[in-house]
Amino acid sequence: MNPVVTISGGGIIGNYISSRLSKNNIESLIIERSKSQNVINENIRTLTLNSFSKKLLDDLGIKVPFAPIKEISVFDGDGSGSIHFSSKEINEENLSYVVFFNDLQEKLQDHGDHQVFFENQIEEIFQDNENNCSELKLSNQEKIKTKFIAGCDGRNSNVAKIAKLNEKKSSYNQTAITFTASCEIKDEYLAHQIFSDKGIFAIMPLPENDSKSTHTIVWSVDNENLHDIEIKDYVKNNISYFEQKLSTKIDINSSILTFKLFSHHFENYISGHVVLVGDAAHSIHPLAGQGINLGFADADALCEEIISSYEKSMHIDQVLTLKRYEIRRKNMNLLMLKSMDFFVNLFGSKNLYIKLLRNFGLSGVNKTQFLKKFFIKHAAGKNKL
Ligand SMILES: Cc1cc2nc3c(=O)[nH]c(=O)nc-3n(C[C@H](O)[C@H](O)[C@H](O)COP(=O)(O)OP(=O)(O)OC[C@H]3O[C@@H](n4cnc5c(N)ncnc54)[C@H](O)[C@@H]3O)c2cc1C
Repeated sequence: MNPVVTISGGGIIGNYISSRLSKNNIESLIIERSKSQNVINENIRTLTLNSFSKKLLDDLGIKVPFAPIKEISVFDGDGSGSIHFSSKEINEENLSYVVFFNDLQEKLQDHGDHQVFFENQIEEIFQDNENNCSELKLSNQEKIKTKFIAGCDGRNSNVAKIAKLNEKKSSYNQTAITFTASCEIKDEYLAHQIFSDKGIFAIMPLPENDSKSTHTIVWSVDNENLHDIEIKDYVKNNISYFEQKLSTKIDINSSILTFKLFSHHFENYISGHVVLVGDAAHSIHPLAGQGINLGFADADALCEEIISSYEKSMHIDQVLTLKRYEIRRKNMNLLMLKSMDFFVNLFGSKNLYIKLLRNFGLSGVNKTQFLKKFFIKHAAGKNKL
């Protein structure tokens, strides 16, 4: 088997790339470390897709149940600053779409006929310049020849390690806690985000499902607050603060999942025929729900470049093709990462002057239509570069 593109990692981004290439008659192979039968756990984790990511899925005919968000209310729980975003301000129907992680993963896996080697991984990569390809040695000792190796294997990318790419990594010193709950927020299209000493608390509507849950919660908490306490006790002891702020009871219906939060970014996304995409190349604080959206924008740019190279010539210049992808995506991703880091630091600060400044800043931006529109369009995926 000699696929044009070998994809390390059959997550959401790996499967999307495989489907998109297959639609354009470009053969790919996914190498996935986990077992073939994905154990579909409880539906807890959600993703917020922006309209650009949703369009990419629509274009492939992939329909995933979603809950639309039309308005977002952001406020400082410890102050008076607030900002309100509405889809009407950018003449759009919705700002974003909440989907269950499992639903999206399952739909993408079932779409088309992906070629997948499960319980396998790339062990070695040899660049064969004479034949304009790379030879891969897999953990089952099989050898394959390929033109491109797309690292879609998430944080701690195996392919990035083999290609010896340089990573910049830092911890946010926070843990994301997520669960589903039922509560009575009157407007079914409204999401809230509250910044406070108890953490950054986001509550969003859920797509209709079999459980009684109506909302998903993603709550990022400083690790220092979690030192001597079990996570479930921290949630139990502190949720009343947010119930009060939102004027609703929040009944937790699911298990509680936790994720340690890191930010990482590679100085270069490419080395020879290897390219990093999605969380393999970068990860970001879930504060603005942009992780998967950056991954979809990467995947779109990479597929466009590979497809365009194929349409132009049978002799593919991999390095040039990948360089064009890197130029399109790297600075854009870095800008988003740096902006998120700025917000995490701003709202994590206990300094009184910074607290005053951020309250003034939030309300100030709320009154400045130009800035507000810029932020909304960016988050909604309308500023494609
Ligand atoms: C709490 C939380 C909430 C989030 N909320 C949002 C949100 O609302 N909106 C949003 O846009 N983003 C969100 N994100 C980010 C989002 O989940 C990620 O950006 C996204 O899942 C990355 O997808 P991926 O396919 O690039 O990587 P992954 O999902 O990490 O997939 C990697 C795949 O590679 C496989 N793999 C790993 N190692 C190997 C190997 N050596 N060989 C072969 N295969 C391998 C894995 O098994 C997996 O299938 C959130 C993240 C967290 C932690």
